[in-house]
Amino acid sequence: MKRLVLASNNAGKLREFGELLAPFDFELQPQAALGVSEAEEPHETFIENALVKARHAARSTGLAALADDSGLCVAALGGAPGVYSARYAGEPKSDQRNNERLLAELAGTSDRRAHYYCVLVLLRHGDDPEPLIATGAWHGEILRQARGDGGFGYDPLFLVPEFGCSAAELAAEKKNALSHRGQAMRQMVAELRGQR
Ligand code: IMP
Repeated sequence: MKRLVLASNNAGKLREFGELLAPFDFELQPQAALGVSEAEEPHETFIENALVKARHAARSTGLAALADDSGLCVAALGGAPGVYSARYAGEPKSDQRNNERLLAELAGTSDRRAHYYCVLVLLRHGDDPEPLIATGAWHGEILRQARGDGGFGYDPLFLVPEFGCSAAELAAEKKNALSHRGQAMRQMVAELRGQR
C-alpha cells in the first residue's frame, strides 16, 4: 500500500500530511491532482464525514485513500463550530472571517477552553469494509486576539497553554508533534505497521 490518495484539497492539511508522512514509504497524492472532485460533507459527526470523503476518493481513483475530518470544538459554544469549522462564517470558506466570528461569539466569555479534534480514515479500496481509523485531540484555549502567522485556520487564536503561544507561533515540527492531526497520524502509522 504505497500509493495513497489524500481526500482533501486544504493546502494547510496537505502540507502537514506531507511532513508527517515524510519518514514513511508512502507516495501521497492530493485528490485534486487526480481529478477527484470535493465530496459533500453532509454528516453531523467527524467520523461519518471522513468515511464519505475517503470512499469517494478511493472509488474515484481505484487507489487506497486517506481522509481526515477535523475541526475546533469550543466548550462555551457547546462544541461549535465542530464539523462546521471550515464554513463557520459561511461561504466562501474564509479563515479570517471564521476567526472573526469565533471572537464575536466568545466576546465577554471567560471560559475559553477548546480543543481541536481529528479523525483519520484509511480505506485500502473503495469497498473496504474494514477502514483503519485513528483519532487525536489537542486541548488549548481561545485567545482574545490573533497571534502569529504559521499554521492555518484557527491557529492564530488557539493558545497552547504549555508553551504560552498560539498554534500559529509554533514551528511546523512542533505543531506536528503536538497536534490532533499529528497524534492521529502516528496512531494510524502504528496500525499500518501492525497490519504487515
Ligand atoms: P474539514 O476540511 O472539513 O475537515 O475542515 C477542517 C476545518 O477545521 C479547517 O478548515 C479549519 O477551519 C479547522 N481546523 C482543522 N484542523 C486545524 C488546525 O490544525 N489548525 C487550524 N484549524 C484547523
